[in-house]
Amino acid sequence: MLTPAMTGDSRQLVSLDAAKPAEESLRPLFGLDANALAARMVAAGEPAWRGKQLVEAIYHQRLTELSGITTLPKSLRIRLTAEGWEVGRPRIVQVFQSVDGTERYLVRGRDAQTVETVWMPEGDDGESGDETDLESPTTPGAPGLDFETRESTNPTRPVPNHPQNLGAPSIPRSSAEWVGNPEPQPVLNQTVEENKSKPWNRATICVSSQVGCAVNCQFCLTAKLGFQRNLDAGEIAGQVVAVLDRHQVEVGRDRVNLVFMGMGEPFLNYDNFRAAVRLLVEEVGISPRRMTASTSGIVPGIERFAQEPAAVRPKLAISLNAPNDTIRGEIMPINRKWPIEAVMDAVGLVQLRPRERITFEYVLLAGVTDQPQHAAEVARLVRRTGLPAKVNLIAWNPGPGIAYTMPQPAAVEAFRHTLAAEGIPAYVRKPRGRDIFAACGQLKRTVEG
Ligand code: SF4
Repeated sequence: MLTPAMTGDSRQLVSLDAAKPAEESLRPLFGLDANALAARMVAAGEPAWRGKQLVEAIYHQRLTELSGITTLPKSLRIRLTAEGWEVGRPRIVQVFQSVDGTERYLVRGRDAQTVETVWMPEGDDGESGDETDLESPTTPGAPGLDFETRESTNPTRPVPNHPQNLGAPSIPRSSAEWVGNPEPQPVLNQTVEENKSKPWNRATICVSSQVGCAVNCQFCLTAKLGFQRNLDAGEIAGQVVAVLDRHQVEVGRDRVNLVFMGMGEPFLNYDNFRAAVRLLVEEVGISPRRMTASTSGIVPGIERFAQEPAAVRPKLAISLNAPNDTIRGEIMPINRKWPIEAVMDAVGLVQLRPRERITFEYVLLAGVTDQPQHAAEVARLVRRTGLPAKVNLIAWNPGPGIAYTMPQPAAVEAFRHTLAAEGIPAYVRKPRGRDIFAACGQLKRTVEG
């Protein structure tokens, strides 16, 4: 059954940059860190400190054209351009906007393929219980640190007339009900209006790490694409900077969290994921405590992650989704390679910061993973790890061609209650942007057009 929310009321926007050809970016500066930019300047016969000017222009001022970087001499800009250099930041080429304020972007990197990035004003409560807001105040603007005050831990003030407060769209509960539903259609251009107070108190950006995904979780629409290619560090970090730019986010002042939970498995693209995190921390200035990397349980990746210095290590989320190896092996084939116990052993290697918890993400599939006995099993499993942990519950987001059914709200609440009664902190993540296929597990349903 179609609902207004799924048809005309969802404002799908735009080609923001449709006129630009999908040419491959040959020599992008975006993606190089401060040292590499300094080395590039030296190679061009310039002093190394010009690299700092490039960092300021590309990562702080978010300039996208070499010609606009007026701190560099004009002759140098012309010479770099002639040599094929460009800023080369990934571009948002299409925007879909949900009735709940969520935006889903198609972002083009170094070739014609796009990946998806999601902006969720007010987040989805995925950060609940991880005490992100209790971080100590730090120096404003210091690289790698966020400027937060204790006052910001006050309850979020409601935003009058914000779409999120006008009720969530109703949606089909299973694959069969999608028959006949229209695809979200891009229409006219629309950009965020400038010089208005921001209509959000905090926000979360969901970032992709690969085009498609090889992991093949049975409940995930991204899996249907298969694996296409890895994103490089600039393409991963560039999604974030493009979205920060679109929403005029002031890093170090505005409360923005990053979750590496978009398309792809970041730990199967570890080197690029790691380099992107370092860029975002060291050059863009986002605290790693405001970042969460989610893995389906790639044990060698978790072991590498555990070696990262705390200064550049995001928090860790494990996409658990099942109470035991039997069910997990059915819905997540990766479990046959690395079963739950191996994953938990690897997670135990991570040296958590004070107050940090491991997050276990758990997708509830009606009749498959949402039963009371499953909740009791999950509680035992999490307790056995002995780790500070919490469980984020996600009522499965439906999509065409996937033979599962959404859980009933009462089953979700009963599951949460069982975990809580067993002493496991559990939170239900709000579905965001379901009407535009922006919710968890729904990327990438539409293609650019
Ligand atoms: S849930 Fe994540 S890891 Fe699994 S197939 Fe989808 S994108 Fe890949």
